[in-house]
Amino acid sequence: MATTEITFEKSTLSDISTQDLYREILTRIGEDPTRDGLVRTPERMEKAMAFLTRGYRQDINEVLHEALFDVDYDEMVIVKDVEFFSMCEHHLLPFFGKAHVAYVPNGKVIGLSKIPRLVDVFARRLQVQERLTRQIGEAITEAINPQGVAIILEAQHLCMMMRGVEKQHSLTVTSAMLGVFKTQLQTRNEFLSLVRRSGDSF
Ligand SMILES: [Zn+2]
Repeated sequence: MATTEITFEKSTLSDISTQDLYREILTRIGEDPTRDGLVRTPERMEKAMAFLTRGYRQDINEVLHEALFDVDYDEMVIVKDVEFFSMCEHHLLPFFGKAHVAYVPNGKVIGLSKIPRLVDVFARRLQVQERLTRQIGEAITEAINPQGVAIILEAQHLCMMMRGVEKQHSLTVTSAMLGVFKTQLQTRNEFLSLVRRSGDSF
């Protein structure tokens, strides 16, 4: 029996438009990309995916530009409940939740409104929650060299909720403790008690 094999060469694949690739995906999941509701879907998918991954095209130095200030304040700075939306790199499904960010300055602070933007630069990429947590901490360390940085992320993962184990209410908590948050138990506990709510397990 004769078999026909269709092979895509890399050089030809890169010639295919993003929208044609999404059209192909729609076909392969069993849909008809020419039906009314789907005709413009590849165009929408391309735009949505560009938005959800725009962090790849953002530069942390530009985001923080003119938002670093000299201070002689050395008490803990905390920004709680920063909402974020990201996508897991294993399934390209969303995970989302809240970030709690703290640092103890060492002569410099970051404008408070820039903290959510900094979280966003890393969240709007394909991620695993642990790396996202670490990257936020490292970016703050590089920007202002503080005495310490602490990050806690609590998130729900749609790849766990909609598929796989289908655990609807599980919350994944990750943390990164650097500098004084690592070496001084009292500083770490102060941070934890400020972000902890009744019922939280961390
Ligand atoms: Zn996943």
